[in-house]
Amino acid sequence: MIPTPMGQDAVLAALRSMASAERDAPRTLLLAGPVGVGRRAVARWYAALRNCEARLDDPCGRCPACRDHAPDADGVVPAADYREIGPATTTRDGKPARRPQLRIEQLVPRERAETEPLGPWLQRPPVRRHRVAVIDHAESLTDEAANAFLKTLEDPPARATIVLIAEGPDALLPTVASRCTTLRLVPAEAPPEVRAALAPHPALRLGRPGAWQAALADPQTTAARRAAVERLLGAIDGDLAEAFDAADALADAWPPGDAEVPGLLREAWRARGQQAYLSGDAATTTLETAWAAYAQRDLALRAWVLQLRRAQPR
Ligand SMILES: [Zn+2]
Repeated sequence: MIPTPMGQDAVLAALRSMASAERDAPRTLLLAGPVGVGRRAVARWYAALRNCEARLDDPCGRCPACRDHAPDADGVVPAADYREIGPATTTRDGKPARRPQLRIEQLVPRERAETEPLGPWLQRPPVRRHRVAVIDHAESLTDEAANAFLKTLEDPPARATIVLIAEGPDALLPTVASRCTTLRLVPAEAPPEVRAALAPHPALRLGRPGAWQAALADPQTTAARRAAVERLLGAIDGDLAEAFDAADALADAWPPGDAEVPGLLREAWRARGQQAYLSGDAATTTLETAWAAYAQRDLALRAWVLQLRRAQPR
């Protein structure tokens, strides 16, 4: 199955006409929009559409190409004509990177490269009809990497499309942005039944279909996480040891790299009223930054607890 991305009808319509234009379609695209609105889902859908044998409005989901383009149990697309790269979260010496970066060796041949860079991969002819290479978080391209790849962005191989994913053209180097055809994704509106099932999940307000689909698909985990959030919120004003225990439990209940926790806390805290929301806002922003920087999450949550206890009127 190749899910049709929710809430992005205008972008899908533009991509459908590109798919039917075949070789005349723009071959360097920027899918622009906030994190979580489904940028990668749209890229995957487009790659399947370009290769699907049925040539309908959506990938048919049944032909051999579509079966290759459906994500496997690990969420990876096994198709030989599809590749995604993203910023490395460790430095070249294997230490955690302070700022994740897309490096030159991921794009063009370098001695230190461990896997085939994107450039040579794009040059090889597609196994089916069309290769699609996705550069996720393109704002983290180093200047060196971007400059080495400008020629390829300017003129990708004939049967290939490069899809950059970023918040918007402004997040990219001007030399990169100017080579892309930009399609803007907007936060999606959740259908009422999704809203009823998940409120107050932050993905609803933020219009993030990927997150709400994942939450709906695994109601047990969703309930456990919600319970962990409620436990922490309930513990903030009480015994400090219990509040710290609740913070640690919440950090454990979430997989590494999941960005939803600060948003969930912000949303739940908001329900306590305007005064509480304002006092908690700075603390939650600090938490978000720490979370995004891959800091130790239990410590970041404990710091959040302490800040809120200090900010609380007693
Ligand atoms: Zn198909």
